[in-house]
Amino acid sequence: MSDLKEIAKNAESILIAGHVRPDGDCVGSCLSAYLYLKKVFPEKQIEVYMEHLPEVFRFLDEQHQFVSEKIEDKVVDLFIALDSSTTDRLGDVEPLFYRAKSTVCIDHHISNRAYAGENYIEPEASSTCEVLFGLMDETLIDKTIAVPLYIGIIFDSGVFRYSNTSRKTLEIAGKLIDTGIPFWEYIDKCFYERSYTQTQLLGRTLLGSMRVLDGKIIVASITRRMLEFYEAKTEDIDGIVEQMRVTRGVEVAILLHEIDDQRYKVSMRSNDYVDVSRVASFFGGGGHKKAAGCTMQGSVHDVINNLTEHIELQIRS
Ligand code: 5GP
Ligand code: MN
Repeated sequence: MSDLKEIAKNAESILIAGHVRPDGDCVGSCLSAYLYLKKVFPEKQIEVYMEHLPEVFRFLDEQHQFVSEKIEDKVVDLFIALDSSTTDRLGDVEPLFYRAKSTVCIDHHISNRAYAGENYIEPEASSTCEVLFGLMDETLIDKTIAVPLYIGIIFDSGVFRYSNTSRKTLEIAGKLIDTGIPFWEYIDKCFYERSYTQTQLLGRTLLGSMRVLDGKIIVASITRRMLEFYEAKTEDIDGIVEQMRVTRGVEVAILLHEIDDQRYKVSMRSNDYVDVSRVASFFGGGGHKKAAGCTMQGSVHDVINNLTEHIELQIRS
């Protein structure tokens, strides 16, 4: 098994980056990779780029390790892309990826086509953090490295509830707990706690939901006006589609979020047999079998019709 130490040993300058609209696994993998490499190679020039750090994860960055400003177009020796299924998910730093002398991709998205020079992709893994753990020397994982790894794993496995959780996931979590981290604190902090704004937006969105195809699909949409009214930010939307998914009888939950005139960010979740990553990929997006997304044009009505048509094909087959 490879080790991140070996992967990075010949690089003097390293840039670590995740995807746009970073989530817990993205933040966790980027930060733990950074802390690990900094520990092994204090002399190397290592930066970790994050488009924007969501409020709930701010406590992880007390040392202000993340760089969020636009990084000039420099050439790094090694670019490490984490949790990003395609290079365009890297956002602003995508040009730096193409210019880097060497590139590594560490990911768990089934739709990842191994776009880097070296690729460590495990679609069976719960999270990128789980894949990353496998690339680390366990004896070097201290509490500061264990915390972001643990958060990434609990985030992408929905606190070990989703079917992507395996024995290995739990064993890794056990090893991380053994470092002595206060693991119980992170679950409420990163999952269940909501701001009042989020509670209101959740309620409003769920009230406006509708069911189609005999209740097998549940759909809701969030307009820019709604966000403005509740003074909500994009990240306040996270978690709503999950609440829709647990509605009895539902196989697929679809949440549309208006990002521009006639332009919607689509989030999909499935419960059992529908592969939503196939649907998302068809419309230029990607993701996992049970959690995927894409961006689509048209009216809410058109977008829903196009999506449900593809989902229906899978439900009927
Ligand atoms: P979410 O619904 O939470 O935004 O995304 C669910 C999953 O789908 C994530 O794992 C994410 O990586 C993937 N995903 C969401 N939107 C896109 C997209 O526009 N393109 C690609 N390739 N993947 C996406
Ligand atoms: Mn992930």
